[in-house]
Amino acid sequence: MNIISKCVSILLLLLSWSACDGASFFLPTPNSSPQTDASYLQATGAGLNNGGFGMVRENGTRYHGGVDIKPVHVADDGEPLDSVFSITNGTVAYINDMDKFSNYGKYVIVVHDEFNLPVHTLYAHLNAINGNVRVGDQVAGGQLLGVMGRTANDYNIPSERAHLHFEIGLRLGNEENFQRWYGKCYGIDNPNHHGMWNGLNLVSFDPLPLLQNGFPSDMAEYVRKLPTAFVTRVHAQRIPEFLKCYPALQDGSVKEKDLCGYDVEWTWNGIPKSWRPHFSRKFSPQSPVLIYWDSQQVAAAVNFGSLTQNSKNEVFPGPRMLDVLEKILGN
Ligand SMILES: [Zn+2]
Repeated sequence: MNIISKCVSILLLLLSWSACDGASFFLPTPNSSPQTDASYLQATGAGLNNGGFGMVRENGTRYHGGVDIKPVHVADDGEPLDSVFSITNGTVAYINDMDKFSNYGKYVIVVHDEFNLPVHTLYAHLNAINGNVRVGDQVAGGQLLGVMGRTANDYNIPSERAHLHFEIGLRLGNEENFQRWYGKCYGIDNPNHHGMWNGLNLVSFDPLPLLQNGFPSDMAEYVRKLPTAFVTRVHAQRIPEFLKCYPALQDGSVKEKDLCGYDVEWTWNGIPKSWRPHFSRKFSPQSPVLIYWDSQQVAAAVNFGSLTQNSKNEVFPGPRMLDVLEKILGN
């Protein structure tokens, strides 16, 4: 370790604080004030809010699944210089070093498997990835993953809008289910370069509260308590790999031979955050049925596409929710 990296490590140690379970928590860049203002969020289009999470793009019609963090160190030629760090301990799940293969550009995904819900974090548009970091490596909170940049595939991020796109979320399907869905939607001639770590296989929640407050000690409870927008009843005779990966989202233990399906609670933006198993043979909806919705959240869910609504204001499962189920259940 050279003297510069030693100094950086000591500085990071001083800057870090502890999550409730003892895991060190760091901010992903040297920008040390995660606020909803222009000091932290980078406007990437017409207006500041575009850098925040949610339906913030194109007059509120397009979703942004993370936050865009503004650089604090910029070179004379305008290029960002900020280091990008893993926010807490985890395992490197995926590295994409080919900027033209994704609209995330070069990106790294870390799975935080020390928590009771092993959420992942995603660090995108990197200029360079730390060559010492490999898939499968354990990384500590504050460990260098790369350098902020503005890589992307088919669009240009101008230097004055350079940022780290940062997400926290869950992976939906396994390789097989996601690839089947991908091939159906995009055709077998359209290669999926990222396996199950393709951005289309990830769902995310607003990372800003966690950047402000640190990781909650009970991550599973945090996700399950995100507001429920609607509930669907789905048929399933096998425990999906999604729940084997995130068992804390399932109520109780399940014997597969008795399983008939689940009532799934969703957030407005299609996170299937709580799964209540059913064991009655009377319970056999072959296609997902909507059994509850929060009228206050219908507009947001319809705007996102997880629900649809007809001219009589009747509400139905929407395409983005059905896509999530297809990736998870492989139907
Ligand atoms: Zn972004």
